[in-house]
Amino acid sequence: MPYQYINGRLRNGSADETLELIDPSTGIQLDTVDVASADDVESALEAARSAYNSWSRVTPGERAGVLNKLAALLERDAEDLAQLESREAGKPIRLAREFDVPGTIDNTSFFAGTARNLEGKATGEYAAGTTSSIRREAVGVVGSIAPWNYPLQMAAWKVLPAIAAGNAIVLKPSELTPSTTLRFAQLATEAGLPDGIFNVVTGPGATTGATLIAHPQVDMVSFTGSTMVGQQIIAATAATSKRTHMELGGKAPFVVFDDADLEAAAHGAVAGSLINTGQDCTAATRAYVQRPLYDAFVAAVGELYDRVVLGPTDDPATDLGPLISHQHRDRVAAMVDAARAAGSTVVTGGFAPEGPGAYYRPTLITGAAQDSDIVQNEVFGPVLVVLTFDTDDEGLALANDSRFGLAASAWTTNVHRALRATRDIRAGAVWINDHIPIVSDMPHGGYKQSGYGKDMSQYALDEYTNVKHVMFDTTGDAHKDWHRTIFA
Ligand code: NAD
Repeated sequence: MPYQYINGRLRNGSADETLELIDPSTGIQLDTVDVASADDVESALEAARSAYNSWSRVTPGERAGVLNKLAALLERDAEDLAQLESREAGKPIRLAREFDVPGTIDNTSFFAGTARNLEGKATGEYAAGTTSSIRREAVGVVGSIAPWNYPLQMAAWKVLPAIAAGNAIVLKPSELTPSTTLRFAQLATEAGLPDGIFNVVTGPGATTGATLIAHPQVDMVSFTGSTMVGQQIIAATAATSKRTHMELGGKAPFVVFDDADLEAAAHGAVAGSLINTGQDCTAATRAYVQRPLYDAFVAAVGELYDRVVLGPTDDPATDLGPLISHQHRDRVAAMVDAARAAGSTVVTGGFAPEGPGAYYRPTLITGAAQDSDIVQNEVFGPVLVVLTFDTDDEGLALANDSRFGLAASAWTTNVHRALRATRDIRAGAVWINDHIPIVSDMPHGGYKQSGYGKDMSQYALDEYTNVKHVMFDTTGDAHKDWHRTIFA
């Protein structure tokens, strides 16, 4: 099957290179992916540029109509999409059915609505003899790069606000998980999206991705992925002063105060740390538990971790799927081994079960140093580190002691502690007595090295629009007194 979608049609990539698509739960090859060459990227950008003018000028109502139809088509094909996402990304089918696909459908309906709700300031008189107004205009052609952890949702988060606001987009999905993004683009065409507005080029980041983001025809780069690659892209786009939107890595703290509901916090920590096998930028990764609850929390989470069922992704009874690849599993295992070697205790897990898939047991670690690799850097696997603290000040300071600031949670039954945590934790999202839920209506995006800009919500439209000031003379006399100040 061809893996490029350019100007409303599937095409083969013309690079002298192919990639293998592997099912991470079996290690078996699913398909061979053709790779987009620089010429293919050029064709996709030309298609986007020529389609952009008319799409940016159709009424918001027409754009909303296409997105509403797209939501209906996603609903129609929901089971196929869930199967495809599950197989390629190694997700338990239950997760793909209940989370990835419904989340994408809801996002699509949401952005159909926002297309008609672009805010501008009221027209008004701000200088004598003039009337000013604001135009909100699409940025132009967006080059977008997405990761593998939620392939369909990450594509949707980029594509939907961009096209709702009237932009055209060329998106490069992760080379490990391109298939649902291609289906998404095909469905958009079926929904009536003009050819060239949503293009997909597939290939490695270092070649296809780097060509796309540096191209002068790209007005804006919207990226979701690791902080390291995000920083490379910021540097590479500086030469052409492109607008950038960066959704980068995370290392979310999970702060449990001594008045918290322990059972709820333990279940929340298990769900929050293991969702998508821990391959989630907002996953709970560092639990800080106030000393009186510490032992009971470690025991409760350890017991729940031991009950987690690893299994085939197509089995609805499977709780946890594999990691995305054997290479990534080796990286996770190496980080756990290094923590163990440095004196941490692996309470449970810490090993890969026998078998061909890239599985790794849920792993609970205690006794790590706050400045160690396992506490400070992304593991992106089913691993939770638990540490303790005495005073509230100390707990919040430890939560903030990170270069990341994407998400965090605090667990307490005291409203004052809850309010203080929401104020003091430096992150783009803070949950109280929960961890992970996201909604289309509310923004998602980081502080610090987790990036800048917002996905989802009305705020996402700000990313994909320019604000233009328009000023009219209202006197009917274009000869102004101030013009004479030049020739005093
Ligand atoms: P990654 O940074 O390795 O790759 C992301 C994408 O960038 C891929 O499509 C890759 O091919 C491409 N890429 C790599 N080098 C490139 C280059 N030089 N130029 C252009 N493109 C390039 O990330 P990943 O391993 O795919 O995903 C996991 C990471 O994504 C984690 O760090 C996770 O925290 C982050 N993430 C963040 C969010 C968020 O909303 N903040 C959401 C999901 C994932």
